[in-house]
Amino acid sequence: MEVVESLPDLVLKCKNAFAKEFGCDPIVGAKAPGRVNIIGEHTDYNDGYVFPMAIPLYSVMVGRYNGTSKIRIATSAEVDNPKRVEFDTPSKENPLTQGEPKWANYVKGVLHHFSHDISGFDAFIISNVPLGGGLSSSASVEVVTCTFLEALTGKSLLLADKALLCQKAEHTFANMPCGIMDQFISCMGKANSALLIDCRSLETKTVTLEGGKSDVDDSVAFLVVNSNVKHQLSGSEYPQRRGDCFKAAELLGVKSLRDANMTALRDKRDELGERVYKRGLHVVSEIERCTKAVKAIEERQLEELGRLMYQSHVSLRDLYEVSCPELDELVDITMITPGVYGSRMTGGGFGGCIVALVKASQAPKIVEEIHKNYSKKATCYVFNGVDGASQIQL
Ligand code: ADP
Ligand code: MG
Repeated sequence: MEVVESLPDLVLKCKNAFAKEFGCDPIVGAKAPGRVNIIGEHTDYNDGYVFPMAIPLYSVMVGRYNGTSKIRIATSAEVDNPKRVEFDTPSKENPLTQGEPKWANYVKGVLHHFSHDISGFDAFIISNVPLGGGLSSSASVEVVTCTFLEALTGKSLLLADKALLCQKAEHTFANMPCGIMDQFISCMGKANSALLIDCRSLETKTVTLEGGKSDVDDSVAFLVVNSNVKHQLSGSEYPQRRGDCFKAAELLGVKSLRDANMTALRDKRDELGERVYKRGLHVVSEIERCTKAVKAIEERQLEELGRLMYQSHVSLRDLYEVSCPELDELVDITMITPGVYGSRMTGGGFGGCIVALVKASQAPKIVEEIHKNYSKKATCYVFNGVDGASQIQL
């Protein structure tokens, strides 16, 4: 099992890195977690529900005003070079623009939407959220930047506004038309809980899972297994699926698939064509599974939640066709391993992670089974939900 650096250790490392880079001690700091989506995949752009949980992997940012008109930011992550950028403080006349290195666009985007009126500062970022592993390192960097800026300037934002600002930064500066899930959960996560997000109304509901209880036999945890593969895509896979969903909604005469149901889909099967029909079936059933998952947790029906997770995987594999052999293999292994309630691929697909609901006491044995049976090298984490982003006292 992956031993994850604790938050205090990560903060200390970040403070030391800052001191080495800029020759003085940082004064303000912030943290923002990554996330795993428990259920509700490819539902966000269909106005549906998603159900993510903030995980104890964080991006940390520390820094201070530097008394100049320059902003200097450095990262320790394995990103495109240079790992330190320097630019003039923006103004209305001279706003920030995207450019190279690419990683800095996530930070600049947040800065751009946060304020045109900020004094020069230095900052350092350290993160243990794996990059591009489907645990949302990008949102954690955006949200930590925004939280850091709140700490630095004393201006504070409502959580939903902050999440939307960070999403806008990703759209406009990183050219990634992402949904709202990642930024919402990084801002609003709660310990031992997951967050139901209605992607249409942006209403949220915190649902507490009783994992992390001292009563070991009864406690559950989420096992996240990184397949460590990312299949090369042609670039058309996701736009095509989005397009199929919008086409299905149009043919059904509804605003989005959120308003569709199984009967309507079946009635129009011939008109939709097999592929669009299958995409629609996934989305409509996945939105329904999300609602059922929340009910299952509230009634502590863990077997039911596990079943829903397996069903979600099958639907993503066979109907939405975004899984891959490695993710299927990992789910298959968990299906025959004692102590697992259910599992599924999580994230966009074609690689990345699976998430499994497991008995916490059995987690080490389950991890052992995965390492023994998976044909490639997996990275395994055991998580319970954590609180969302916050400032940290240094
Ligand atoms: P993920 O699923 O991890 O969010 P993305 O492709 O959306 O994957 O985002 C990864 C990108 O975010 C990286 O390539 C980098 O540009 C940026 N990023 C993530 N973490 C950091 C970090 N600690 N420092 C600088 N940039 C980061
Ligand atoms: Mg991302």
